[in-house]
Amino acid sequence: MSKMNIVLFGPPGAGKGTQSKFLIERYGLAHLSTGDLLRAEIQAETPLGKQAQELMSAGELVPDEVVVGMIRNRLTTDTDAKGFIFDGFPRTKAQAEALDNMLGKLGSAINLMLSLEVEEEELVKRLLGRGTTSGRPDDQSEQVVRRRIKEYEAKTAPLKDYYAAQGKLRPIKGMGTIAEITGRLAAAIDA
Ligand code: AMP
Repeated sequence: MSKMNIVLFGPPGAGKGTQSKFLIERYGLAHLSTGDLLRAEIQAETPLGKQAQELMSAGELVPDEVVVGMIRNRLTTDTDAKGFIFDGFPRTKAQAEALDNMLGKLGSAINLMLSLEVEEEELVKRLLGRGTTSGRPDDQSEQVVRRRIKEYEAKTAPLKDYYAAQGKLRPIKGMGTIAEITGRLAAAIDA
């Protein structure tokens, strides 16, 4: 069977991380979250982590080369995976083009973009709620949370057009219970 590669898309707080866990189990895919990879670099106090930390805590995007490099590493070493769920990547058009390029060289491609749609006030509520337990500095202040949503609207949301032009966009209602949303995602994949 050929590989299945999915971009799990949506604004911060849309539920990408939560839903990734279910999709990994159900479809045997490998999870690639650039946010998780960056937080691991910060934890390990690497130069890359130090470079990213300030931008992340301000709610701004880190440079394209940084995240593209991290994804390239994983794509070229994790060659046994049945496919990948990309979570929080790509976030700019340059990243989307780099991803198409890297997958193309491996004889692979993105099959689907599942885009979780959630209203802004619900996102703010979820992120600040998560901040009480996640320990993530960027979940703590309403100002940073709103900045992240603005970054998404300005630089990331336009990627829906990029994937729609390739016939790959599937908008998914991201409101409701976790199980309801998982059901909608699975239905889109199984179709
Ligand atoms: P996330 O865990 O996906 O919410 O990402 C947390 C933060 O990491 C973001 O607010 C950005 O500062 C940074 N980040 C994660 N992924 C990317 C990406 N693909 N491009 C640029 N910055 C990213």
